Amino acid sequence: MVISMGKSSPHSTVELRKINRNRVFHYLYHAAEPLTKQELAYRLSMSLPTLTQNLTELIGMGLVDNSETAGSNGGRKPRILSVVPRARWALGVEISSQHIRLAALDLQVHELGFRVINLPFHTGEEYSVRLSQTIECFIDELGLDRSRLLGVGISIPGIVDNGQRYVTAAPTLGVRKLDVHCIAEHIPYPVCLVNDANAGGFAECWERTGSVQHMAYLSVSRGVGGAILTSGTAYLGTNGRSGEFGHMCIHPGGAPCSCGRRGCLEAYCSTARLSDDIGVTLEGFFQALSRGDAAYSALWARYLDDLAVGIANIYAALDCEIVLGGKLSRFMDENFDALDQRLRRLDPFYQEKPYLSICRYYDHSNCIGAALYFVAQFIQQI
Ligand SMILES: [Zn+2]
Repeated sequence: MVISMGKSSPHSTVELRKINRNRVFHYLYHAAEPLTKQELAYRLSMSLPTLTQNLTELIGMGLVDNSETAGSNGGRKPRILSVVPRARWALGVEISSQHIRLAALDLQVHELGFRVINLPFHTGEEYSVRLSQTIECFIDELGLDRSRLLGVGISIPGIVDNGQRYVTAAPTLGVRKLDVHCIAEHIPYPVCLVNDANAGGFAECWERTGSVQHMAYLSVSRGVGGAILTSGTAYLGTNGRSGEFGHMCIHPGGAPCSCGRRGCLEAYCSTARLSDDIGVTLEGFFQALSRGDAAYSALWARYLDDLAVGIANIYAALDCEIVLGGKLSRFMDENFDALDQRLRRLDPFYQEKPYLSICRYYDHSNCIGAALYFVAQFIQQI
């Protein structure tokens, strides 16, 4: 399924009614607290009859609730209006070489459940059958209503074509080209395929709606990737390869990279440099680092030097807030200052306020972002 966020040019009465209905829903969706009809009419500058008509439709669709009443100084208590978060929900599935992660989200991006399942990736039919079974078990465990499921967003660690039908160049999965049908043929719901970093970036950008217009997302896990988001949507590039920050060269002729070249950011800042290469887990590395292990401290300092060069280059090119995500992010809150100091030294224009921040959803972000594509599409068309 191709997710299109394009704008139409409505002229008919039906379209105008839909625009008004969407305005009412969006206002309630983003409101910090439930509102009375009078408050809503005032804030939207909408007549009470028009608002009543729209609310009747939204309540009839099960998307808005008016069963609660507000406190009153006397007389009849006014009803308060709020969005029904569970009116619809979406599922996000992150596929990686050894695991799948699943997250269910309601309309207001509350996480309804999250699981990590061991399921090594392969391209045979057995995998797509297991994937479908895992999804159905997850839905049953959470007791969610399948008739309210908007769709399943699948996050893939590879380049997804702009038609969201093929995966190309997914080295961590050992895939050169793969049709979405091979993965999703047994999933009986609408499916959308999305690059993992674009999904993670979309989730983080959504979380910052209203405060950030443009954003770069740098995902640092075994693979290093990223996304560029402008006005809330991913800029995909001509070939769907934008934001491949992991393959920016930071040391010409340097260490070999999974892409076949040398000196890429991923070759220096894959989390494998802090785990597999020295025979420990990432958690083990940071535990030893916090105990003051001298060898690990030296390795960490070199790692941060390289990571800072990569981040500073992204900032020099894009001049926007950068959010650091991926598996590394869980360990960065306590190490933020060490990285930020390096960024300040690398950038003569560095403002007082840091341009780098750590992601909010950590290792859930790819799943959440994949599910969010369906949520975003749904609330856009109400
Ligand atoms: Zn590379």
